[in-house]
Amino acid sequence: MFCPECGSSDKEMIGDICIDCFLKNYQFLEIPQHINITVCKHCNAKYYKGNWIDENIPEEEVIYRTLEDNIHLDDKIENEIIDLEIRQMRGTIAECTIDAIGEFKGRELIEHYNTEVQIKNSTCPNCSKIASGYYEVVIQLRADDRELNPKEKEDADNIVNSVLNKQYKKDKLAVLQEKAKLKEGTDYYIGSYKSGKKVINRLRDHFGGIIKESPRLISEDKSTGKKLYRVWISIRIPKFQLGDIIKYQNNIGQVIDINADKSLFCDLKTDKHFSVSWAHYEEVELIEKKEDFQKTMVISKFSSTLQILNPETYLEYNIEMKDKYKNINIGDEINIIKVNNEFYPLI
Ligand SMILES: [Zn+2]
Ligand SMILES: [Zn+2]
Repeated sequence: MFCPECGSSDKEMIGDICIDCFLKNYQFLEIPQHINITVCKHCNAKYYKGNWIDENIPEEEVIYRTLEDNIHLDDKIENEIIDLEIRQMRGTIAECTIDAIGEFKGRELIEHYNTEVQIKNSTCPNCSKIASGYYEVVIQLRADDRELNPKEKEDADNIVNSVLNKQYKKDKLAVLQEKAKLKEGTDYYIGSYKSGKKVINRLRDHFGGIIKESPRLISEDKSTGKKLYRVWISIRIPKFQLGDIIKYQNNIGQVIDINADKSLFCDLKTDKHFSVSWAHYEEVELIEKKEDFQKTMVISKFSSTLQILNPETYLEYNIEMKDKYKNINIGDEINIIKVNNEFYPLI
């Protein structure tokens, strides 16, 4: 076989011609000289094949990925090394260079290209929703039969912010659009329902309580029949807090834990623990808040009895000794509660 172009007969042939003649017109990398991309100016999401993708990646990275997406490499090339560089930004145009090295049948080939990536700024649908104040869910934090205390308000704000910050990485609508501080509680307006649900779950883990969800139809597109709902989710946290005294059925107990599923109490008389699920919350009666506990003095301490001053009569009052009273000393001021004419020290 000899090459019809150069006449040589001792070279490897590629199709009808020798490798040297083939390589004269061969280009292993192709890239357009000018590439347009549409990028959201708020979140840097890129419009790609009908979708907005890759939000929150830096502009430089958007340009590099655009170059990579537009490079077409011949299959016959091996061990390629492609070096991309943004030489300079000229307004919205990135002037880029592509240096490529590849192996073709054992020969090293080097190619060099200049390409412009033009960034067209736009606003993606998520960002335009956020800019217009869009929200899908309102979380209403309330306390049952009392006001929220400052610590609860602060804890709730922190939970809302931390969940949304985490969610924002994958959910562009995970934003707090508005927070309304009302006398009866706090309302959080959240962009996305999905992330709003995550927030409510975390609030429930922290505070317990009763959750009620009420969707309302906001609008309906007559032509498509598509309905837009907005959901109000209320979380009513319990009237009692840790340390308070409650009554449930025939038990009088102190609140020792509150979680997403139930509240846990310690029976004053028997020291046995009992729990009440949120489904039965309404049957729990608050007897006394811990800040309202009466105080009294310990006057003597025996192996079988703790003697306190009856705060009503100022006479001595005997309480059966328990292990948990061991650290109480004569002269200590302790909290007590009177239930069914009996006093119980509260540790
Ligand atoms: Zn040839
Ligand atoms: Zn955006």
